[in-house]
Amino acid sequence: MNSNPYIETFGHAAQYKAQKLLRLGKIYKVTEGEYAVQPVLGYNKTTYAVKEIMGKLTCTCQKHHHCSHILAVFLFREQTESITGDRQLLFV
Ligand SMILES: [Zn+2]
Repeated sequence: MNSNPYIETFGHAAQYKAQKLLRLGKIYKVTEGEYAVQPVLGYNKTTYAVKEIMGKLTCTCQKHHHCSHILAVFLFREQTESITGDRQLLFV
């Protein structure tokens, strides 16, 4: 799964943190195209909102793009999409 070229555009620190967010179950789907990323103790204290706008994921943190939150949501969607196969159509 980590061979995805999109994932490779994120730095190693972001990849590491995104995996941690996933493993700790910090990502929640709020509504279609909108996700909440809860803080990891020791990293930060803020819950960030990641939204899909015009097919692109944007985040409410300072970086806006290419942050660990966006990568975590991307990985989260890959996982949930593979569980419920017909959902994939929603993301095409
Ligand atoms: Zn972010």
